[in-house]
Amino acid sequence: MKVVKAELEHVAVKPEQYPVNRLPELALAGRSNVGKSSFINKMLNRKGLARTSGQPGKTQTLNFYEINEMLYFVDVPGYGYAKVSKTERAAWGKMIETYLSEREELKAVLQLIDARHKPSEDDKLMYNWMKHFGIPVILVATKADKISKSKWQKHLSIISKELDPDDADPLLLFSSETGYGKEEAWKTIQSHLQL
Ligand code: GDP
Repeated sequence: MKVVKAELEHVAVKPEQYPVNRLPELALAGRSNVGKSSFINKMLNRKGLARTSGQPGKTQTLNFYEINEMLYFVDVPGYGYAKVSKTERAAWGKMIETYLSEREELKAVLQLIDARHKPSEDDKLMYNWMKHFGIPVILVATKADKISKSKWQKHLSIISKELDPDDADPLLLFSSETGYGKEEAWKTIQSHLQL
């Protein structure tokens, strides 16, 4: 997909602040530092659009990036950041649960997993939680460039084995550093969103 327009159009903590133009939405979820901002920037060809490199404690909001007036990427704050207070964690949980469970425009969630490591307990909880809500998930293993190509398959198998994803949920490999997997990711997104 050729991205000709991509802007942060809405920042929300509650449903009244979500966009009202009914475009399909794809949410992005993942542990803090997994490479989510880098993924968004790479997919949208915009270097500084999503902020990179862990500003933990940055405002916990849902950020709606409108793309080509066709769809939204919805950046969901990263999970698993240890230093977040209990109160913040509860607010995060409530905000995400409301969005994921109630949002009609949400067509799929892209869940990012670090390709180098076994999925964490938080990764598994997140995946299973989305399945509980019946949301299609596209799994993206990030930072592929940090693993030698000969080990890609092995790492993907470990992720698959640990998460045990539904047959309908694809697992892709990606690198924001090299752009590897970008075309495949767009193709998968377009088919899930029926664009
Ligand atoms: P976020 O917290 O999930 O938004 O993660 P960021 O996008 O800020 O990335 C966290 C760190 O990982 C940064 O230092 C990035 O430069 C680095 N990073 C992200 N994606 C990649 C990748 O594909 N390859 C490599 N080598 N580093 C990456």
